[in-house]
Amino acid sequence: MDMKLWVNLAYIIAAIAFIFGLKMLSSARTARRGNLISALGMLLAIIVTLLQKDIISYEWIILGVVVGGIIGASSARLVAMTAMPQMVAVFNGFGGIASLLVGWSEYHNYLGIISWGALLPIYLAVIIGGITFTGSLVAYGKLSGRITGRPILFSGQRLVNALFLLLIIVAGVFYIGKLEPQYTYWIFFSALGLSLLIGVMAVIPIGGADMPVVIALLNSYSGLAACAAGFVILNNVLIVAGALVGASGIILTKIMCKAMNRSLANVLFSGFGAVKAKQDSSQQQGEAKPISIEDCYYILEAAQSVIIAPGYGMAVAQAQHVVRELGDLLTANGAEVRYAIHPVAGRMPGHMNVLLAEANVDYDQLSTPDDVNPTMDAVDVCVVIGANDVVNPAARDDENSPIYGMPIIDVDRARSVIVLKRSMAAGFAGIDNLLFFADNTRMLFGDAKSSVAGLVAEFKSVN
Ligand code: NDP
Repeated sequence: MDMKLWVNLAYIIAAIAFIFGLKMLSSARTARRGNLISALGMLLAIIVTLLQKDIISYEWIILGVVVGGIIGASSARLVAMTAMPQMVAVFNGFGGIASLLVGWSEYHNYLGIISWGALLPIYLAVIIGGITFTGSLVAYGKLSGRITGRPILFSGQRLVNALFLLLIIVAGVFYIGKLEPQYTYWIFFSALGLSLLIGVMAVIPIGGADMPVVIALLNSYSGLAACAAGFVILNNVLIVAGALVGASGIILTKIMCKAMNRSLANVLFSGFGAVKAKQDSSQQQGEAKPISIEDCYYILEAAQSVIIAPGYGMAVAQAQHVVRELGDLLTANGAEVRYAIHPVAGRMPGHMNVLLAEANVDYDQLSTPDDVNPTMDAVDVCVVIGANDVVNPAARDDENSPIYGMPIIDVDRARSVIVLKRSMAAGFAGIDNLLFFADNTRMLFGDAKSSVAGLVAEFKSVN
């Protein structure tokens, strides 16, 4: 067998590893192994690619590996868990610019070529890569607070965007169809510039709260750009990997939209958060009732069934380890303990799963809202740890609420609810939460980590 055949065989094995790895990511129990299997597939693909004789110079490749490795490893070590979404945004952007550069370099090699089959992938790699690059940078800026997280809207915005899109399609027809060959240079590079502009224009009208969905979508784009780049350099494994990233990114986007009961069009075009929802404070019933750690301990000590509902605040406080400790103490005390994880709790998909897995919470204790909601009336205590929007009953009861229709964890239906947060501040959607004023709710104010550590200490001092 010649080398090419061996290489393609190795690529098929790598592709199978990607697919199995992805499948295994769908369950917390198998996710780590799935990640490893996919990574091994990628290692195999990289090794066989490097073994090919037509890799002319290894020096630049080694330099790239060293520089990229140092940047990747140090940023992965330094990044705070709460800054993970913006890091993913930057990585998507780098994927986009890499595809753009591949397309750009091949543009020069294909100047004399008339076949549209060769020019189309170059154009797509550059355009989708460009949109992904600047779109991701804007997403990064919004999430990191470097630019305003509020939607930036102006009149005629959609018209301008539609015009840009039309221009890029027309330029594509001219470039791929070689309609005005003497202007190819101008057409190609104007389209490249336009793609960078479209990336910015597409993301600025989207509110910071919707950025994680946008990041999933941009992730999908970066896959499509890589897929196009694979066609450009005729590399099968890049085509397959790009297509898988493109498809899984769009599936994830859909799952996130569904979990928020929003359509993708609504996320992309509604400017969610531009006008803060006006709430009638007279609706608020009664006063929020604070509770001390000691009293909270007595409620928990007597509970037979406890649901822990974590949210973004648990990630901010990095409370996952003490939360697991509290869960173990409650179990040892005879209570049935479950962790109810909402699909959009936190700031990225799987955020809570990752944190709880890091703290070695037993997978059998993890539940979805669909699992826990039907049994909620029989639950003694729900402990809400830094969650807000995902437990806001307005999503279920208030038709005028901006989050109406979003499935929630019905913690308010439990016999008692203890909410751990620092203040009465709103969650990411910026709307009030009547759960905090309910008769069966007690507020344990303070940083989630120190509050839970206080509860753990109470349990330990008594037992
Ligand atoms: P929220 O953002 O609604 O609320 C988090 C709460 O945590 C805040 O009310 C805050 O209150 C509290 N908090 C912050 N820091 C601490 C701390 N150190 N200790 C204790 N509490 C703290 O979080 P949820 O997880 O409930 O909801 C996620 C939101 O993000 C939803 O609106 C969802 O739609 C959105 N979103 C999530 C996506 C995802 O993929 N996960 C994707 C898209 C959107 P205080 O300041 O008073 O402490």
